[in-house]
Amino acid sequence: MMEKKQKITVVGIGPGSEKHLTKAAARALKESSVIISYGSYIELIKPFLKGKEIYSFEMKEEKERAKLALKLAEKGKSVAVISSGDAGVYGMGSLIFECAAKEGKKIEIEVIPGITAGIACASLLGAPLGNDFATISLSNLLMPWREIKRRLAAACKSGFVLVIYNPSSSKRKEVFRKAIKIIKKYRESKTPVGIVKNAFRKGEKVIITTLGEIEKFENEIDMLATLIIGNPQSFIFNKKIITPRGYKLD
Ligand code: SAH
Repeated sequence: MMEKKQKITVVGIGPGSEKHLTKAAARALKESSVIISYGSYIELIKPFLKGKEIYSFEMKEEKERAKLALKLAEKGKSVAVISSGDAGVYGMGSLIFECAAKEGKKIEIEVIPGITAGIACASLLGAPLGNDFATISLSNLLMPWREIKRRLAAACKSGFVLVIYNPSSSKRKEVFRKAIKIIKKYRESKTPVGIVKNAFRKGEKVIITTLGEIEKFENEIDMLATLIIGNPQSFIFNKKIITPRGYKLD
């Protein structure tokens, strides 16, 4: 019998709308026989599910997802593992490679890039990422707070625009408040802040404010939001945030 190809495709499906899912991602979904996903993302890829074996998991079951993907691929199935945005950015990508390495499984793993939340949200805010930026996740589930704090302060001191993923949740409001306190030590209160919730998904909301006013919007900031905090050169014009690249205009 011919040996079946053992392969996992890790697919970034973009922020939500089908318009922002790449052609390569669509093709990978079509060509796979098994789809492994976090439950709520299934909604976002509905058109691709017909005739597939679907495994939908809860949050925090990432290791189980990765192990199942390896197991099914070993059996010769073509497995697609889904992450929202880009799978390599706080997604399933690294974990699948880590599990394969740990188990010594030399299965082919292909990664299909997707539009990550930071980039999608930036587009709705104008051009806030016109200069160097740092992405920081405020989730302290996998990273201790003291390390998050150190990185936040370092990114602020170094002048990076900040792209904050996982900014807050009902259980992590305190982390968010402490993070804002640190940022305020280094950035002026007029610093532009963009809050984007559900970019390119149902319930999309875009808020443009400043660091000084951010507390007013605390209730809007949850796991469905990404924050972009400008650098000292960033400014607001005509309801957009702009971070200059450095051109001298005359
Ligand atoms: N792999 C994903 C990130 C997963 S971490 C990516 O590349 O986009 C989850 C965090 O991503 C959320 O807490 C939120 O901060 C951000 N996020 C994901 N999708 C989003 C969207 N459509 N709108 C705003 N933020 C989003």
